[in-house]
Amino acid sequence: MSDNTPAPTPAPTPVPTTKTHAFQAEVSQLLDIVVHSLYKDRDIFIRELVSNASDALEKIRHLQLAGEKVHQPDAVLEIAITTDDAAGTITISDTGVGMNRDELVANIGTIAHSGTKAFLQAIKENGGANENLIGRFGVGFFSVFMVARNVAFYTRSWHADGENLCWQSDGSGYSIETLESEEKRGSRIVITLQDEFKEFATASRVKDILLRYSKYVPVPLLLNGEKLNTVQAIWLKNKSEVSAAEYKEFYKFHCHAWDEPLEWLHFNADAPLVINALLFFPSENTEKTTFALPTRTVSLHCRKILVDDAPRGLLPDWLRFLKGVVDSADLPLNISRETMQDTALVQKLNRVLSKRIIKHIEEVARRDAALYDKFWREFGIFIKEGIVTDHINRDALAPLLRYESSHTEPGKTTSLDEYISRLKPDQKAIYHLTGHTRAAIENGPYLEAFKARGIEVLFFTDATDDFVANHLNSFKEKDFADAGQADLDLGDTPAATGEPLPEKRLTSLCEWLKSELTNTGEIQLTAVGTGNRLVDSPAAALNTDKYVSASMRRLLKSMNRSSESAPSVKLELNPRHSLIHKLDNLRDTDPAFARLVAEQIFANALLAAGLLDNPRDMTARIYEILEAAASRK
Ligand code: ADP
Repeated sequence: MSDNTPAPTPAPTPVPTTKTHAFQAEVSQLLDIVVHSLYKDRDIFIRELVSNASDALEKIRHLQLAGEKVHQPDAVLEIAITTDDAAGTITISDTGVGMNRDELVANIGTIAHSGTKAFLQAIKENGGANENLIGRFGVGFFSVFMVARNVAFYTRSWHADGENLCWQSDGSGYSIETLESEEKRGSRIVITLQDEFKEFATASRVKDILLRYSKYVPVPLLLNGEKLNTVQAIWLKNKSEVSAAEYKEFYKFHCHAWDEPLEWLHFNADAPLVINALLFFPSENTEKTTFALPTRTVSLHCRKILVDDAPRGLLPDWLRFLKGVVDSADLPLNISRETMQDTALVQKLNRVLSKRIIKHIEEVARRDAALYDKFWREFGIFIKEGIVTDHINRDALAPLLRYESSHTEPGKTTSLDEYISRLKPDQKAIYHLTGHTRAAIENGPYLEAFKARGIEVLFFTDATDDFVANHLNSFKEKDFADAGQADLDLGDTPAATGEPLPEKRLTSLCEWLKSELTNTGEIQLTAVGTGNRLVDSPAAALNTDKYVSASMRRLLKSMNRSSESAPSVKLELNPRHSLIHKLDNLRDTDPAFARLVAEQIFANALLAAGLLDNPRDMTARIYEILEAAASRK
């Protein structure tokens, strides 16, 4: 023993048994990664275990307040850590909820979080683990195996009929044994360190580590009998009393985070409700990787005491990327999780909080464009989700939207307010075009009419953009309008170049095309006409269905749902285009070839509109055209 520390209670000897369980495959993979790839900051295992202990204590406190009968109700709520540098061990004990056998298996023998397997697979395929990737995932309890040779997890659950158990592992498998002796309620983790990590059995080293986080631990924290902290809740403090470094450390401790927060919002309100909230925007959207990763979200407290660590209904769903704490002194402490979602109070909190958060995001956008840009890239998708799903906040969210447009440089975005400020005097709508990329939209036939008139067009490059515009319907009294729509009134004619085909020829060309093309593919060609929107392209297929845009159709198709009717289009010709002049001539001189050319013009127009379902037919036709062209010298 060293440091004159009180001797820890001797570890009870587990009843001998040979039964060792294999870890679930994912746990083994995770351990493999933890042990072999996670070299930095090995001391974080202490933070992870203390924070688990603290969670367990917050849970027991809430159970007691809710009137549950718990085992050893008088046990003092605290975390006690002891070090023994001679033995090379560190022990972390808490008087929290503890675990029963099933919980031991489920919580530290298995990884219950769905998506873990896929995540670990991705790490492997990425050529090994990278610290950030692991950090995003959070290894929690298993981080102890970065330093441990052996871990003995003694525990006694809070349930009256709980057993005294010892879970043990050297990292290759685990055993669970029933103890003959009585354990204190809660958990006691005895870590036997690997030789090269014996530093973590030294009181001074451990004290340094603990002091970094101790002020965020909501219960007394003792090291070798010495009390390290006075319990305080930084969210109840005044903003001016908390430094940026403290916010960041709190984030790491309380939210089990490994990253630096992108931004945080700390606010205290007295009316209409007493609220103290400290909310963090993480640096990354982990949902982007499509794995349902375990995430700590926003926990709900009442005067420092945890009421629910994952309260449903406290915030709208689209704000699930936030982490942190909401504390409301108005909340009854003994409220049960089940009824909470339905209480008028939680609904009121939800409204007040979401309004305040949206206001904060707006402030960020005004204050720091670069930061907002980062936020938008990571979390813009949640804002869009909010517009579609949260009708209460829909209008407040619209100013947060950002798009690239024909006015912005590639990679830069505009807000709807900025778009509105650049409206042409008689502009009737907010125009948008959909495509997979900016380049695809810029090379399509629809933009030119708007460019020629100096009208800005928003580029919808996200699959959800159309959907969002549909839900918004309008912004500042201007309707959203698909720039690929047939019946757009763009007002004046742009400066035209070249002579148009004479009126009579044009009418007969349109009639001829209509009769030649009607049966092409699954598209309904409702009309062939001329207009003044085209400048450089010979023709464009315009959507005549006001409610189902071409991109919406694609979206429905990708979800294996088709819209009721076949897409109907109008083919608009550019009467000044030389190809249209030549096609008109060709009708007289070589009708068969003219037909081929007409079909190809239509196919090109459909392709640009994203409506060509079967491009294979096109290849054969192009060969025919090439052959004809080649034999014409
Ligand atoms: P996380 O804390 O992110 O859920 P961990 O791997 O750290 O992941 O812990 C897994 C689970 O094991 C916890 O969610 C908790 O249910 C349980 N657990 C861990 N430590 C303790 C403890 N000291 N007391 C009670 N339960 C614990």
